[in-house]
Amino acid sequence: MTFVQLVAIVVHEYEPAIRFFVDVLGFELVEDSPATTTGGSPKRWVVVRPPDAQTGLLLARADGQQQAAIVGNQHAGRVGFFLRVDDFAAHYQRMVAAGVEFVGPPRKEPYGQVAVFLDIAGNRWDLLGPAPQANQADVRAASQLGSGRTPQGAATMTDDDKYIRRAIDLARQARERGNHPFGALLVADERIVLEAENTVVSQNNPTHHAELNLVQAAWQTLPSELIRRSTLYTSTEPCPMCTGAIFWSGIRRVVFSFPALDLGAMAHDRFCGPCRQLFERAEQKTEVVGPILPDEGRQVHLGFWTTA
Ligand SMILES: [Zn+2]
Repeated sequence: MTFVQLVAIVVHEYEPAIRFFVDVLGFELVEDSPATTTGGSPKRWVVVRPPDAQTGLLLARADGQQQAAIVGNQHAGRVGFFLRVDDFAAHYQRMVAAGVEFVGPPRKEPYGQVAVFLDIAGNRWDLLGPAPQANQADVRAASQLGSGRTPQGAATMTDDDKYIRRAIDLARQARERGNHPFGALLVADERIVLEAENTVVSQNNPTHHAELNLVQAAWQTLPSELIRRSTLYTSTEPCPMCTGAIFWSGIRRVVFSFPALDLGAMAHDRFCGPCRQLFERAEQKTEVVGPILPDEGRQVHLGFWTTA
């Protein structure tokens, strides 16, 4: 039998990490024994594991500056771990009560209910409920969360670049799930507070564009002051429907990657156009920034809008 036995999570200290996984997530402490680093200093071999699971987590205390620097960022901000549970609501409520930080509200996906949370180190996890039909396709879909290319040139990235790349990643995920290639996210106080994808196909609803999904989730879960000071990032310039929704939501800054006119040329559509023209009709001003990294934004559309 071949299987992944252990995955290491780099943490600052053993005890808080053990408490998090055992007390909050309900894992078992499988092993906690003395060991030594390759440099000869003492460490502990600490393994936790969900009951009945095969794959465990090695809680590795950061040794030195280089390791300390990646605590909580092992996956460069992507979701790196996926925890599937039988009773989503019970787990979610227990974790919220225990103070676990969730990045967004629970949402329903074709592969089950999902909510993104941060572990004790700050790594992103998906909490996943049971798949509607527990077949291989669902498991694959869940494992593809957070997949995609790694952004290049991180050293010179602006914040707008960084968030736009994340929006493009979400668009790629949407496409991988059989939806249209669009993604959007909301940033407030220099952090992502919500993410959304296009779900037109999976939810069989032509209005479920990424930006509209995002605006609806924002109003259901976030305080209005937070929404008003937030920025919406989207992989492709918003269509007229979403431009309207963004305006009515109170969001007053929009950053996009791929221009609507370019998409229109690609998809043989003339309905979408510069969103600035719509926003400009309002007395309350909305700042529009873009195109940002349009070549990267274009990539997710390639081969999708073929009419043949
Ligand atoms: Zn739209």
